Amino acid sequence: MSLSKRRGFVFPSSEIYGGINAVWDYGPLGVELKNNVKRAWWRSMVQQRDEIVGLDAGILMAPQVWVTSGHVAEFSDPMVECATDHRRFRVDELPGAEDLSPAALMDPGIVERLGLTCPADGGPLSAPRKFNLMFQTWMGPVQDEAAVVWLRPETAQGIYVNFKNVRETSRKKVPFGIAQIGKAFRNEISPGNFVFRMREFEQMEMQYFVHPSAAAEHFEAWKHRRRAWYESFGVTPARLRFREHRPDELAHYAKKAVDVEYRFPFGWKELEGIHNRGDWDLSRHAAASGENLEYFDPTTEEHYIPWIVETSAGGDRGAFTFLMDAYREEEVRGETRVVLGFHPELAPYKVAVLPLLKKRPEIVELCHRIKDDLSRHVMAVYDDTASIGKLYRRQDEIGTPWCVTVDVDSLEDGAITVRDRDSMLQERVSADRIVELIGDRLAAAAP
Ligand code: ATP
Repeated sequence: MSLSKRRGFVFPSSEIYGGINAVWDYGPLGVELKNNVKRAWWRSMVQQRDEIVGLDAGILMAPQVWVTSGHVAEFSDPMVECATDHRRFRVDELPGAEDLSPAALMDPGIVERLGLTCPADGGPLSAPRKFNLMFQTWMGPVQDEAAVVWLRPETAQGIYVNFKNVRETSRKKVPFGIAQIGKAFRNEISPGNFVFRMREFEQMEMQYFVHPSAAAEHFEAWKHRRRAWYESFGVTPARLRFREHRPDELAHYAKKAVDVEYRFPFGWKELEGIHNRGDWDLSRHAAASGENLEYFDPTTEEHYIPWIVETSAGGDRGAFTFLMDAYREEEVRGETRVVLGFHPELAPYKVAVLPLLKKRPEIVELCHRIKDDLSRHVMAVYDDTASIGKLYRRQDEIGTPWCVTVDVDSLEDGAITVRDRDSMLQERVSADRIVELIGDRLAAAAP
């Protein structure tokens, strides 16, 4: 967290006013990292797959969507939350509280009076609250019940309601997928752990529409593909695991659910959810909207509602994971070197161009020329605000894979030094070849 703030990855939102709980802002390096994560996801999910197409639906949707999806009714009972494992429970489902009146269920002293504790781990429970996770606002000039709209708590519904539009216009045949990246908002009761649980965050979701008989097989395939994606961008395999939801944990619509979990410093936690949602979503929307959301298979002449296999990842949680997993401290000649060992594609800057002598205008000029050439292809940065040793350390600490140094000899022989972040090895190459060399190295690192 301290490195994130100090180097400009993440800042608390509205900090000069004391901040606002569970909203974070991405600084110059953070926005590059998160954009790179989203780009990498989009490339593997949309660009490199013939059967998946993209979508960017609105954050505000017809209120009926959230009634149909169950979000309006969900979480509207008196709830308590465990302070240790953050599970939420309906008060009337806790042993000892089953027969209470509606008023008693909302009594602020009920937890203490009945000695209620978390049924899962015995942890302390919050006071009861009527709680719906959705943020509500009004559309149009009149702020009354009829004008209520919600900020979407997930991006998936935008995909379901566009199922027909997308299928017809893209002419996709089952199995096919629709992918979307976008903001979601949840009024979390207990946000925290830095950007792990926020009230405004981004999701990277893909809904895969399949024949019911093939859903289990697709579910397994996506589970493995998604875990492999994190590993291909450098996440330590031993810090990833699958966790299958127990039957009593499954959401009402889910046939099967597995979380890809990461071992965060605060425990194993969900990084991404993979769900077999059956035909719940399309059936519900078809019934509520009156629209026929069936698929017709011309080869078998079968009409059916496709089942959905969903992969639901967090853009922020993903970026946070890559950041944390990349952090390492090393001993180098008796000093501690902090390195963010990002996969080159995720690194905020790919190259830093550094002058060995900033007092020599020809050196500075050559640096700028190299930086400008590189900037047409990748994020590159010029820095001359410290000695070369310090500049290298600074770039190591923000995960820049390559540093290019221009010295007095460069003016004579046109050669520059390229230093590798991980090995710290340096090699002399012709300045004319630098764009090609960085391109080759990025291509070699590509998953
Ligand atoms: P959790 O159990 O952590 O509350 P969830 O099961 O409610 O998560 P989903 O609804 O499956 O999460 O959302 C899919 C993904 O969206 C999560 O795996 C996570 O990466 C991300 N996500 C969900 N809620 C948040 C949040 N409050 N802050 C940041 N990312 C989130």
